[in-house]
Amino acid sequence: MAKDQLVQESAIDLEEWGRERGVKYYMVNFTDMHGTQRNKLVPIRAIGRVQRNGAGFAPFAAGFDTEPSEPDMTVLPDADAAIQIPWQPEIAWVPGNPVMYGEYFMQAPRNVLRKQMDDAAELGLYFKTGVEPEFSLLTPDGKALADEFDNDVKPCYHQQAIMRNYHIIREVSEYMQELGWGCYQNDHEDANGQWEMNWDFDDVLKMSDQLSFFKFMIKYVAEKNGMRASFMPKPLPELTGNGLHIHMSAWDSTGTPKNNLFAGSGDTPAGQHGLSEIGGNFLGGILRHGAASTVIACPTVNSYKRIGLRSTATGSTWAPNYVTWSGDNRTHLLRLPGDGRMENRLPDGAVNPYLLPAVMMAAGLNGIRTKADPGQALDINMYTELDKIPAGTPQLPRNLLDALRLFEADEALVKTLGEDFARAFLNKKHEEWDEYSNHFTEWERERTLDC
Ligand code: ADP
Ligand code: MG
Ligand code: MG
Ligand code: MG
Ligand code: MG
Repeated sequence: MAKDQLVQESAIDLEEWGRERGVKYYMVNFTDMHGTQRNKLVPIRAIGRVQRNGAGFAPFAAGFDTEPSEPDMTVLPDADAAIQIPWQPEIAWVPGNPVMYGEYFMQAPRNVLRKQMDDAAELGLYFKTGVEPEFSLLTPDGKALADEFDNDVKPCYHQQAIMRNYHIIREVSEYMQELGWGCYQNDHEDANGQWEMNWDFDDVLKMSDQLSFFKFMIKYVAEKNGMRASFMPKPLPELTGNGLHIHMSAWDSTGTPKNNLFAGSGDTPAGQHGLSEIGGNFLGGILRHGAASTVIACPTVNSYKRIGLRSTATGSTWAPNYVTWSGDNRTHLLRLPGDGRMENRLPDGAVNPYLLPAVMMAAGLNGIRTKADPGQALDINMYTELDKIPAGTPQLPRNLLDALRLFEADEALVKTLGEDFARAFLNKKHEEWDEYSNHFTEWERERTLDC
């Protein structure tokens, strides 16, 4: 397909839109496989051409599984997703969709998600998501808490901490309100120095763009105040890690919510927890591919220090150990608050904002196509009642390599998510694991020197 046939359909002319708003530059960006946003600053005089032809990037330099000898990737801005930067209104941020060899480049996470959206639309489903980013406010070197007063043993919802950090939280909360995101709460979370900010759920692609932009905002405001906002899954070993829960439902249209097709009731276990039949099948798919999808939800070496049967200074990790579901019970991987949505509590702060909903949709849509049965809800405390966990319940992988192997062995998930993406992701992640395994540690010297 010729590149000009791929141009994003949009009523918005970026040059005109920008001139009306005093925009001088566009930050044209894409998200790489690791979730990092990469940008080019395009003066408004050149944005018309970029909107038509895309902005050029070398994919190898951005960490994609390509060779330096390959041609450029061009990123076509999605004009409908442009956001004028609240603290620097001369610049507008616009995420785009990478194209290579005249086709959408399927290693690129935003394209991976859009493919899942197309597959879902064929089934008449339009996904909406809400995300819960947790982050730590650290010293610039990332090794200690920025707020030295923040040392309560149970710091969750701490009053004094909110006041000490009010200037940071308030600034980002104001930006979200200006942008019309419907920010509805901000709080100190379970770990010292840990925060969470929440805003209203929306169409899945929009939410992934918003999550990317949220990370950009909080990092900017923290840096301005001499701190580092980190989404690292386990930045400090003894404290509760940074999760990034996602809530999901599927509707009969995009935009203003009409009918939530996951909402329902009935005698089945899923029905008793507020899910329709397809909602239950979607849940069944996520459970079936749960262990295999962990590498997307928890994509780094460090991720595996947050999940598993550990404890933390406050007495709970709030993260899952097994692939199980329950009602309003925060010790399971999937929690059903009862109103036609499901919460996935597995993902951590290192998760890619686009791949997270994409892998859930791939798993869940497989579940719908095959009428997967989610089985019984398990209403136990997963941290203490280990003897009540049924035999055969899948346990989460214990490290990145186990997780990679589970993903590559799940042919159905790989196929639905996209083989080009999966191959590239596995190659790059195996490289990362090998690099980590070759990293020499003091621990092994201490344990092995006198063997
Ligand atoms: P909790 O900490 O109890 O898990 P939060 O209030 O922090 O809950 O986050 C809940 C998230 O779920 C918010 O982003 C909210 O907008 C979102 N949400 C609520 N209802 C739905 C729904 N039907 N579909 C998708 N997301 C939803
Ligand atoms: Mg150059
Ligand atoms: Mg929350
Ligand atoms: Mg939280
Ligand atoms: Mg949550």
